[in-house]
Order: sequence, then structure tokens, then C-alpha cells
Amino acid sequence: MPEKTLSFFENSLTQLDNASKVLELDPSIHKMLKKPERVLTVSVPICLDDGTTEVFTGYRSQYSTARGPAKGGIRYHPNVSLDEVIALSMLMTWKCALVGIPFGGGKGGVVCNPKEMSENELRRMTRRYTVGILPIIGPEQDIPAPDVYTGSREMAWIMDTYSMMKGYSVPGVVTGKPLNIGGSLGRNIATGRGATFVLFEALKHFNMSPSNVTCAIQGFGNAGSVAAFFLHEIGSKVIAVSDSKGAVYNKEGFNPNKVMEHKQKTGSVVDCEGCETISNSELLELECDVLMPAALENVITKENATNINAKIVIEIANGPTSSEADKILYDRDVFLVPDILANAGGVTVSYFEWSQSLTGWLWTEEEVLTRLEKIMQQGFRDALKVSKEKEISMRTASQVFAIDRVADAIKTRGLFP
Ligand code: GLU
Repeated sequence: MPEKTLSFFENSLTQLDNASKVLELDPSIHKMLKKPERVLTVSVPICLDDGTTEVFTGYRSQYSTARGPAKGGIRYHPNVSLDEVIALSMLMTWKCALVGIPFGGGKGGVVCNPKEMSENELRRMTRRYTVGILPIIGPEQDIPAPDVYTGSREMAWIMDTYSMMKGYSVPGVVTGKPLNIGGSLGRNIATGRGATFVLFEALKHFNMSPSNVTCAIQGFGNAGSVAAFFLHEIGSKVIAVSDSKGAVYNKEGFNPNKVMEHKQKTGSVVDCEGCETISNSELLELECDVLMPAALENVITKENATNINAKIVIEIANGPTSSEADKILYDRDVFLVPDILANAGGVTVSYFEWSQSLTGWLWTEEEVLTRLEKIMQQGFRDALKVSKEKEISMRTASQVFAIDRVADAIKTRGLFP
């Protein structure tokens, strides 16, 4: 019989089981942590520009609210599924716990292809989806944010729809909002910057200097491009970047700003002057110091894990490595900083934004970035300590540390009724 490939949620459950074993977790808490607290499926009918009606499907999963309101993004993608949304909401739970911000974990998504929709169609879909999930979101319940193919524009629509329904402005209902309606300075660069802060900690651990390293970045969206620009600025060699259409490579390094200009002109990074065009899978196997998968999940699998030629992998995307690949990389001594740590910068600044929205007290960008750096450094040190003490991978160590915090909150609150 052919080996069954695990679904993303099954993969995440395997990781939970591994961490629970290390922790010798109380079996009843382990049982509770295997299931999402609440999941909502909504139908999203809208009128398309041509006058016909289309009915999309949307989801919102609240995995845990033990440590605070559910928190996590909303993605628009044709491959969104309930399994994926639940898995991602589980990862959000560990992520918030790991970096010590007072949130649980949530995630949402709509099955659609935003690249084929007009702005008006996207606006109607976002507003109708918001009304669908309205009973379970709110500043004290569940706070959405941007994720794959959503950004500040969609957050503004969600904030406005929610506010219209309530009859007053509720900026705390989403994060990642535009600045002029209560967004936070630094939120748009937070995920990319956060990833570079943990990369610097990893480099320190190996006595390597950021100005000497070569980096390949898969994905050139909000998070990947910010990391690329910043690394280039501080003197690292960015040798490859990619988007869904392909990748560009130059082993001497290049200026990612030039690639962005090319992408803005042509719609893709491919064929950028001064670089060789290669495929996304070739990018993943390039010889480099640092590989940053910053696109979608499941790109490093048991098929290509033995060909990964990077010393350090920083998972900017959520779930880019399968469980099988994880083990292969660990056995091959590849130092992997897992998603729940590497991309926690986004939700950390979301927390800063939410605090600002609730208090009305605005922070400077310097305050935001200084606090972000401290939180990311602490997260890395906490995970590294557990990894060394227990001789386990950084992934399992990050989960052990995070799950312990969630379990502790559940124990302290006690089981209702
Ligand atoms: N979508 C981002 C993540 O996966 C940000 C979530 C948030 O800010 O709530 O971490």
C-alpha cells in the first residue's frame, strides 16, 4: 500500500504528540489540546460584477482561548480548507504562547482566487464573510489580521463592516489596519523584521556574522520581501527570491529592490535582468547559509529534504516543512527555526496594535521595533534553552515551551463547569 501523506492538521497533531511526550503532559490536557474550541463554516454569497451570483465558503477556527482572545489571520486562497484553517489556528495558539503575548489562537479563510476577482468583488466578499463570522469575533473574543493574499485594505473593510453593525467605531476588532484608522507603525514590516531578528540570534549561536551570509528566500510577498530588503541593507548576500511564477538567482547576490521594481512592472520576479531564472524547487535546494521559505505550507517534504543545502532554515511561512522532512533535516544537522518562532513578529506587533486601539495611546515606530526585537530575542533564547537541555530540535523545543504555557493556563483556570 502506498504511504499515506499526512494532512496539515494531522501533521500538526503529530507535532503536538511529540511535544506532549517530552513534557509528560497531563493526558486530559493533551486530549483538550487536540481539538479546536470552536469552528464556524459560513456561506458567502455575493453578486459578481457581471450580475451573476457566486457562493464562496468561509471558515473561522478558534483553537484555544485559554490564554486570551483568539488571534490570527484570514487568508484568501483556492486551496483553503477546514483542515488547513484548524491546523493554522493551532499553530497560532503555540505562537502567541511562545512569545508570551496574551492571546489564544485563531485562523480564518475563504476559498476563492483573489487574483481573478475585482476590487469590488473582493470588498463585497470580505463584508459578507465578516457578517458571517460576526457573532464570534470582537476585540475581546477573536481578532482577525492579514494572512495570505489579504492586507490592510481587507482589514479596513472588516473593521468598517463590524463597526457599522455595532453602530460605533471598533478599531480593536482587527489588526493590520491602515495607519489612518488605527493601524500601528511597523505592522507592515513586522513579520519580515521579526524573522531577521531571530536569524541574527541564530547566527550569533553559530558565531556567524550577518554581513557574511548568503540567503535564499522563497516567496516575495509582504514578509519575504521585507526580510530580503533588510538583509540586503545590512550587507547579507541575497542570492535568490521567488514568487508563484518562478525564482531568480545570482550566486554573487543582487539588490532585491531592483527585483521588486521588475515585479511591479511585469507582474513577476522571473526574467529579472542580472539574474538567472530558476524554479521554486531549485531555489529550495540552492547551496546557501540561510534558506527562508516565506510562501505557503508543505514545500520542504520527504522528497526534497535530503537535497536542502542550507545551514539554517528560517520558516517565515506557516507550516512549510512536513513532519517527515523535519526529521530528515534534524538528522542532517540543519538548524531550523520553526514558523511559530520565526514568523511571530507579525502577531507580536498585532498585539501592540490591539493595545494601542484599546487604549488610544499611539506608539512610535522605534518603540514598536525595539519591543519587537526584545520579544523575538527572548522567544529564541527560551526555545534554544529547552532544545539544549532536552536535546531536541528547535521545533519541538518551541512547542514544548509554548504548550507548557497553554497547559499551565488551562490548569490555572480549571475545567468548566
Ligand atoms: N497571519 C499572521 C500569522 O500567521 C499574523 C496573525 C496576526 O497578526 O494575528 O502569524
